[in-house]
Amino acid sequence: MTLTAIKEVFSSFLLTELFKGMALTGRHFLSRSITIQFPEEKTPSSPRFRGLHALRRYDNGEERCIACKLCEAVCPALAISIESEQRADGSRRTTRYDIDLAKCIFCGFCEESCPVDSIVETHHFEYHGEKRGDLYFTKDMLLALGDRYEAEIAERRAADAKYR
Ligand code: SF4
Ligand code: SF4
Repeated sequence: MTLTAIKEVFSSFLLTELFKGMALTGRHFLSRSITIQFPEEKTPSSPRFRGLHALRRYDNGEERCIACKLCEAVCPALAISIESEQRADGSRRTTRYDIDLAKCIFCGFCEESCPVDSIVETHHFEYHGEKRGDLYFTKDMLLALGDRYEAEIAERRAADAKYR
């Protein structure tokens, strides 16, 4: 019988592995817990976190998007579909702005390319779809998300502005 085998036999009789495990448990028993109770508790997220998309408006309620289609062109997943028309006042706005989140890879290129800070990715990630169409977000849905989270979006963009 080799020395290692003899050690293993003694070790198993003396339950050393068990006591090592208990010592480890004991060391962490009274220390601060790092486990959080999701979803009631959440870990902090970076201002650059790329979650659910939203379309923003200006303070006067006008939608920011000018239908330049840069986001559509830059999207590597071909997830954005835009159609546009010219208004009576000569300005151009989208008549359709859809994002298929089943295709999206959350790269953030659309947000980076937008010249008017219209399309953004919020820090919300708690959404789901039970069938494919559930993850197809239309212009109205994206604008509603922008309206709902504008304060948080503006705050996070301001926090990140000095690093850009
Ligand atoms: S995050 Fe990337 S993949 Fe998703 S819509 Fe924007 S550009 Fe496309
Ligand atoms: S969201 Fe921005 S980049 Fe995309 S079409 Fe509108 S203005 Fe252009």
